[in-house]
Amino acid sequence: MKRIAVFGSTGSIGTQALSIIAANPRRLEAVLLTCRSRIDMLREQIERFHPAIVAVERPEDAAELRREYPNLRVCCGRDGLNEAAQAEEYDVMLNAIVGIAGLEPTLTAIAFGGGRRDGNLTIALANKETLVTGGRFVMSAAANAGISIIPVDSEHSAIFQCLAGNKDNAIKRIMLTASGGPFRGYSLEQLKSVTVEDALIHPNWNMGRKITVDSATMVNKGLEIIEAKWLYGTETSRIEVLIHPQSIVHSLVEYEDGAIMAQMGFPSMIVPISYAFSHPERWTTDTRGVDLAALGALRFDAPTGETRRSLDMAYRVMRESEEYGRDSGAIALNGANEALVQLFLDGEIAFLDIIDTLEHVLERHDSRVVKGIDDIMDADRQARESALSLVRRQRRSVATPGASQDANRGH
Ligand code: NDP
Ligand code: MG
Repeated sequence: MKRIAVFGSTGSIGTQALSIIAANPRRLEAVLLTCRSRIDMLREQIERFHPAIVAVERPEDAAELRREYPNLRVCCGRDGLNEAAQAEEYDVMLNAIVGIAGLEPTLTAIAFGGGRRDGNLTIALANKETLVTGGRFVMSAAANAGISIIPVDSEHSAIFQCLAGNKDNAIKRIMLTASGGPFRGYSLEQLKSVTVEDALIHPNWNMGRKITVDSATMVNKGLEIIEAKWLYGTETSRIEVLIHPQSIVHSLVEYEDGAIMAQMGFPSMIVPISYAFSHPERWTTDTRGVDLAALGALRFDAPTGETRRSLDMAYRVMRESEEYGRDSGAIALNGANEALVQLFLDGEIAFLDIIDTLEHVLERHDSRVVKGIDDIMDADRQARESALSLVRRQRRSVATPGASQDANRGH
């Protein structure tokens, strides 16, 4: 029986993970659940899965849960996630929190080792922001502790599967596939008027709001380039992106001898989540098969257009990281993006403002070496402030035409 700690149990990945746990009652049990504010859903999960511990954000929610479930340990507040990560024994941590909030719990789980004396903890990582912001520390801490990190992100799970049985040093290229999102092929003019509702409709995947917007801007694929770099140690110059609108090929690895391995399947997160739990075995899921003959052809294109700029930003920040060990650029890209996506979802800025402002944040950013979690959180906070101040300047210049031709560009 594997004991699973589900961080972010009320989200898109978290709920799918719980459906896999429910479908495998003799193999898996959920011992720990966390969420931020969807307490009613958490309550249903508590009644169904009987975890030993939960973590929520607000003290008043925690107090209510303690009253309702006297035998349940309830953590809360900023440290609630870290407290939970070291309060209960578990074999697998599934980190399905969204955003940089997922970084500290990952580091805590690595330090605590899931409470296992044999150090045999597995981290099933959906929270890509953990690696984008803290990849250098997380990968070395996990390696030192002998803890395996199994990616849940579908592209990285595909690469993980393509690498099985092959030596890492024989990798020539990694090809990450991208559906291109809802605005594939849109012109600059068309992108100027897209709405939040348009951005939240993804052609192939049903995901949380933040990653859905990231897919539309292609920032998601930029973050995934960085995620792949840390997971596999491959320089970013050898990580390429291919637009593949059908989302059947989940990613590919080309080897030095010319062989290319691809992992394919119907687009469903059930497969990579299940594999992260079952590895090295494979368990049955109810995922649909793919009728390749009915599809007739698989299509691949090079990334082009406005959203290509999001990939360029990721390559740029990683050059600084790879050449000079300065990781703050990736943290800034991630932090500013989290702030801007929230503003977009709140109807405060337009879709293209996300990409434009991110470029301006990075232009203003002085990249530097980060020495630990405090430096990471500082760089994150500064990038959010920088993004918000650029948005405010842009607003003022719109409110007072002629005050500045391009206030957003100011240094
Ligand atoms: P959701 O927004 O659907 O769920 C996020 C979960 O994290 C919820 O349980 C939420 O709680 C909790 N949460 C949100 N903010 C905080 C916070 N500040 N502190 C603690 N908990 C928080 O996200 P997804 O499931 O879509 O994505 C989760 C992660 O997986 C992301 O990093 C994403 O990039 C990655 N991923 C997702 C894929 C998908 O198909 N959805 C595919 C590949 C990767 P509450 O519900 O109470 O708000
Ligand atoms: Mg992905």
